[in-house]
Amino acid sequence: MNMLEANMRKVSDSLNSTVRLAAEFGDESLKDLKLYTSLVEKLCEIDSKMNTHRKALAESYAEQTVECFDQRPLEVPVRNKQCNHVYEKSVIENLLKQNPRTRCPVMGCAAQGYVQQHLLEVDVRLQQQLIQTRSVFT
Ligand SMILES: [Zn+2]
Repeated sequence: MNMLEANMRKVSDSLNSTVRLAAEFGDESLKDLKLYTSLVEKLCEIDSKMNTHRKALAESYAEQTVECFDQRPLEVPVRNKQCNHVYEKSVIENLLKQNPRTRCPVMGCAAQGYVQQHLLEVDVRLQQQLIQTRSVFT
């Protein structure tokens, strides 16, 4: 859950309890639920916009992973700090085991030199996006 989402939840929670309190203890003017309803509607609107945005984001990440050289779905994406290309962790590690002098396997990659294990970094953000992408599309 990201920050915005967490905040949305907090806002809608406090809105809900305000409505409940107003209904129980408020005078007539506070019981005008229209005000709250319109706020809730606004929240829902923002929420759905956020979801659309998130979906678009997930899709762009999904496209990005098509670049993945072995065409398999990424499970543990690692990013090569030299060129920013992303590989499946087990695949690149196997390649490096077989041949420590492996160059970046992405076609057309401009990186000089060999892939170095210590320059590979698990891309946690991408990994989370991938998990989300899968839950969006399946
Ligand atoms: Zn590369």
